[in-house]
Amino acid sequence: MNPHIWYPYTQAKTAPDPIEVKSAKGLWLELADGQKIADCISSWWVNLHGHAHPKIVAAIAHQAAQLEHVIFAGFTHAPAQELASQLVARLPENLTRVFYSDNGSTAVEIALKMAYQYWANIGKHRGRFMSFEGAYHGDMFGTMAVGTRSIFSDVFKDLLFEVDFCPYPDTYDGDLDILEKEANCLNIIRQNLSDRPNSYAGIIIEPLVQGVAGMRICRSQFLQQLRELATEFDTFLIFDEVMTGFGRTGADFACNRAHVKPDLICLSKGITGGFLPLAVTVATERIYGSFYSDDPTKTLYHGHSYTANPLGCVAALASLKLLTQNQPIYTQMEVWHRQYLIELANKYPQLSKFRVMGTISAFDVNNSEKSGYLNNVGREIRHHAIAHGVLLRPLGNVLYLMPPYCITESELAWVYQQIDRVLDKVLGDSSAE
Ligand SMILES: *Cc1c(COP(=O)(O)O)cnc(C)c1O
Repeated sequence: MNPHIWYPYTQAKTAPDPIEVKSAKGLWLELADGQKIADCISSWWVNLHGHAHPKIVAAIAHQAAQLEHVIFAGFTHAPAQELASQLVARLPENLTRVFYSDNGSTAVEIALKMAYQYWANIGKHRGRFMSFEGAYHGDMFGTMAVGTRSIFSDVFKDLLFEVDFCPYPDTYDGDLDILEKEANCLNIIRQNLSDRPNSYAGIIIEPLVQGVAGMRICRSQFLQQLRELATEFDTFLIFDEVMTGFGRTGADFACNRAHVKPDLICLSKGITGGFLPLAVTVATERIYGSFYSDDPTKTLYHGHSYTANPLGCVAALASLKLLTQNQPIYTQMEVWHRQYLIELANKYPQLSKFRVMGTISAFDVNNSEKSGYLNNVGREIRHHAIAHGVLLRPLGNVLYLMPPYCITESELAWVYQQIDRVLDKVLGDSSAE
């Protein structure tokens, strides 16, 4: 192993050596030793249509020979213009102004800046954000601040601005308390908004699914009521759809599935089909209008070297086309997931909180350890899954699947069969100890 690489989210001292991947095609990764494993987490949630999709490969190759990159201030190019139009056409009609960047954390950071500066631009001061327990919005300081305080951000906590966190009303199959949880949460939000009038720049949420927190799912009805509160108290509703965008929730965007129009939306991960880093933050005319001025201090002074990279933009255009063609698959995957989850539920009493949202399925694996990111059962499952030809990366004791949309029903059935074998081993072993 090359000793010079410092890997992300990895404690080098205790982690096993990283596995070398030689190539990938569709659902399958081919390892350096020739073994094939099914990529059931879409490679950190970015891949949509399978690896090395020829349509995206061709689009990038063609564009690379034409214009690989150009400064995006004072200059523009056709792929960025075309992509902006296509995104606006698919998003709720109030979202009309597309700001490009290059990763999910940045897309969120920009949304926070836009919301904050909007109020400054119109001569008011609103310095607070509201967010949700369990939230993850990225690894930069602003995004860490609006994320739940966790082992990821604890060491930096003195540097993070103050945020009011509300409970996220997560639900699962057979949850009897959901209405009560939602009412409680909405009460807290209303209370915050009335206790501190005119002080919130915005409320940020991962709509329908909190990813990193362990695929925690909330209902559309909750998001609709949240929208009403934000409107009533005139603060911005920011949807971080970095993970939920582009078909993940069974609709093109979570906002469309929930029938909720946010004031700002952040998109990244799946945007290029998993080929290249790209992100957008899309704002309303109202927000954009406050920056549109003869006064230079009202400008959004933000930008990155690779903003609106043309290769990323053409990959995104090719991916959007495939998304339209693949719509039946990502909308029907929910039904496939459910039928296999039932089998696991019937077999293993240690599993609970089964939940499905579009292409994502998840459940909790209960062992004697505390639930959460540091629970070791996830690491054990990951290890055995590789031996069974499946890439899984449980979040603590939450096992989830997020396959690319190219997966066939029989491949998915096979994946669940392997999960059954892995659970049999892991849970069987632990009860024998
Ligand atoms: C992954 C993720 C981010 C951060 O995106 P990066 O590209 O990893 O910086 C932000 N928000 C959500 C909801 C995410 O899932």
